[in-house]
Amino acid sequence: MQKRIESVAIVTGAADGIGWATAQRLAMDGYRVALLDVRSEAVQARATELGRQHLGLACDVTSEASVQAAVAAVAARFGRIDALVNNAGIGDQTGPTVEQNVEAFDRVLAVHLRGTFLMSQAVARVMLRAQPATGHGRGAIVNLGSIASTTGLPGRNAYSAAKAGVLGMTRAMASEWARAGIRVNAVAPGYVRTALIAGLERQGALDAEGIAHRTPMGRMAEPGEIAEVIAFLVSRRASYITGAVLPVDGGWTAFGAPESALSGLPEQAAA
Ligand code: NDP
Repeated sequence: MQKRIESVAIVTGAADGIGWATAQRLAMDGYRVALLDVRSEAVQARATELGRQHLGLACDVTSEASVQAAVAAVAARFGRIDALVNNAGIGDQTGPTVEQNVEAFDRVLAVHLRGTFLMSQAVARVMLRAQPATGHGRGAIVNLGSIASTTGLPGRNAYSAAKAGVLGMTRAMASEWARAGIRVNAVAPGYVRTALIAGLERQGALDAEGIAHRTPMGRMAEPGEIAEVIAFLVSRRASYITGAVLPVDGGWTAFGAPESALSGLPEQAAA
């Protein structure tokens, strides 16, 4: 009988939030998961929690040397890489544009854009060397967009630019690597209950109640609801999807009427 080859996934920013939920979801699907995060101890503790077959590594996605070392370590340990989730991210500086500083602007672009570029480049080099699995190609990459990729959030210049850029890069890489058997897609979450959002709430930069009202589904997402869609996009079930952006936003970007239009609409019966 042929030995079953276990798939290997890398998740960046895996110490917390959507990244941690995604690592758990992919482990449930049978992947061996390499969890990468700038927070070394936290991510190693997460990997230990997930189980011995997984790996936790310190990695700053903005540093080419750090990315190359981490990807080499994953390839050395597991011998292959089937999926990459470019999830590492930081929130924007808050406050009016006229008071924003350029270092913070550059840092947001570096984590989201430079990080997605460096990780995808390093992982694609490994994927392109691999033999494609029959009928499945060489691998899949999922990038984290946002509702900020396509809609305007006042004051959030760097984050909006970075997340719009992530979609551009998703399409460019998808087009370049489609024939080589690497699919590249993005998810675009609305507001998700994570530490990143809690931080913005603490700074007074986010109105959780207002967000719930403005969201057709009437609530924020849980990290696991984003992880579920990422797991679908890297799986064989998405074998003909590439260059796509999948909103996972409770209807946020579909909705274009005044907020009052959501009042008085039928609601789910209480459980
Ligand atoms: P969290 O802050 O909960 O987790 C992100 C993780 O990435 C943290 O552990 C963070 O470390 C780490 N990280 C930050 N910078 C780097 C870096 N340079 N290299 C490696 N790891 C790094 O974020 P979320 O789970 O909320 O967000 C995950 C992704 O989803 C981000 O790309 C975000 O923009 C996107 N997203 C989130 C939404 C939300 O509502 N939460 C909505 C739409 C998109 P540290 O804590 O030290 O910064």
